[in-house]
Amino acid sequence: MPPLQPARGTQDLLPDVARRHRQVSETAREAAVLYGFAEIATPIFEFTEVFARPIGEHTDIVSKEMYTFTDRGGEEVTLRPENTAGVVRAVLSNGLTQATPLKFFYSGPMFRYERPQKGRFRQFHQIGVELLGVATPQADIEVIALGQRILGALGIAERVVLELNTLGDPASRAAYRDALVRYFSGRLSELSEDSQRRLDRNPLRILDSKDPGDQRLAAEAPDFSDYLNEASRTFFARVRDGLDRLGITYRLNRRLVRGLDYYTHTAFEFVTTDLGAQGTVIGGGRYDGLVELMGGPTMPGVGWAAGIERLAMLTGEPLPPQRPVALVPIGEAAEARMLVIAERLRDAGLVVELGYSGNLQRRMRRADRIGARAAVLLGDDELARGIATLRDLDSGEQCEVALDALAPHLSALTEITKP
Ligand code: ATP
Ligand code: MG
Repeated sequence: MPPLQPARGTQDLLPDVARRHRQVSETAREAAVLYGFAEIATPIFEFTEVFARPIGEHTDIVSKEMYTFTDRGGEEVTLRPENTAGVVRAVLSNGLTQATPLKFFYSGPMFRYERPQKGRFRQFHQIGVELLGVATPQADIEVIALGQRILGALGIAERVVLELNTLGDPASRAAYRDALVRYFSGRLSELSEDSQRRLDRNPLRILDSKDPGDQRLAAEAPDFSDYLNEASRTFFARVRDGLDRLGITYRLNRRLVRGLDYYTHTAFEFVTTDLGAQGTVIGGGRYDGLVELMGGPTMPGVGWAAGIERLAMLTGEPLPPQRPVALVPIGEAAEARMLVIAERLRDAGLVVELGYSGNLQRRMRRADRIGARAAVLLGDDELARGIATLRDLDSGEQCEVALDALAPHLSALTEITKP
């Protein structure tokens, strides 16, 4: 019988990859704290309505990517495809709308039924932030600055470019939408089938189409900037001014639209050319209409989400974990004593591996395999004298150390090896 396989589009994060993921999420969490964002964790599944309406019936996510099922109690639930709607739902359910501004950071798995490929999975992981209750451009600037800081802290800022656009306020967006519908209607037969369908429901998405024919048409489509009203222009100018002050460079991309329907004003993506077609590592923007759409008060919001898999593919090897110390007892009495010694060493913060069985050679081979910094050998003779033999596995040198003095000795040794 062939071994069991993971479901398509899912993967096991073996320790090396899990460590890279952890590095990404921890780096992001630490940076988010500096901006006053607090961690929130919402459920991995919600009633389907939490996602369906906010994300938009005609988006790819809702129309073909959601993992939706009826549970045993007859409730229709969906594995979260993204987390903005979940966070807003949590704000409303917990009556937090008075306490603005609200600043949340999250990290966790998301689920979309997509065609798996490099950088695209059915279960993937995101970090993200949401800043609710601030209508002014400072909020946009700060969340972008936070994204930039995280990329810097991960050492990949040079490989990623910030692309920026504005979708304007609802009035500008409506005017532009009409212009787009007029333009594309005149060339309907040249549009892909998907985009013909999008024309009524979500014409902005045509700009974002991956079909080459659509892209050619989109290149000549009316420009959003010609349809922005005064207020929208001013808002965008202030966002750009703030980014300039912070020395955050960006490229204007007039075709950048977010896939989700509730975005207004600032839209942005941090993109790289180093990951092939799946080059967007962070995507976000302002979503002033969302909270109201979900039954809450008028409450502006801005945020972003980043794919941990894609970020982890860009980062170098994370710092090696602290190298372990291998304990090698010889004989029953030493083995019993080693259990206690191991705990004392762990109290001192050392990573300790107790070789579980085998003769001296076997245990030393294992110490080697796990990259141990040192081995502590303890036999009946040493036990009687209250000492252990400490072998430096890098230099091969050996010395005797009093059992009481093992912790400081080993701490000094492992600290020296820290990068
Ligand atoms: P794409 O255009 O790549 O499909 P998207 O617009 O659907 O992205 P968002 O919904 O904005 O993506 O999600 C934010 C980020 O989450 C993306 O920029 C990407 O890094 C990551 N992401 C989205 N979908 C996947 C997936 N299926 N697998 C891995 N990462 C993903
Ligand atoms: Mg997508």
